[in-house]
Amino acid sequence: MTARHRASCGCGQLTITAEGAPAGAALCFCTACRKRTWTHFGTQARWPAGKVEAAGQATVWRRVGDHGTPFDFRFCPVCGTTLWYTSALDPSFVGIAAGCFDDPNGFAPAVSVYDSRRPDWLGLPETLERRG
Ligand SMILES: [Zn+2]
Ligand SMILES: [Zn+2]
Repeated sequence: MTARHRASCGCGQLTITAEGAPAGAALCFCTACRKRTWTHFGTQARWPAGKVEAAGQATVWRRVGDHGTPFDFRFCPVCGTTLWYTSALDPSFVGIAAGCFDDPNGFAPAVSVYDSRRPDWLGLPETLERRG
């Protein structure tokens, strides 16, 4: 049986479940990730859109990334947790907030995106690929 991974918002009314292993996982130090997570970086894991199923009420907020790509972020209108996003240009994948999974140890990031914006005080393992 294929493993299913459940992620939920802070209050629990919004959930998203992904099936099988993610296509990838990353840390991101972009401005949007700092603002939406209220910390210094976001962590997300990606699945093909056909492998995820959401339940509950979500609000959509579109943000245009620093390279011009529009992303639609889904967040809980009750508690404000950002739970997943899709790219308006490529709806074939869904990125899920890795820290919101029931088992947050499950998806170790392989890439650090916008790594040049990483705070000086934050070291990362040498094994992580750095981009941007
Ligand atoms: Zn919530
Ligand atoms: Zn980001």
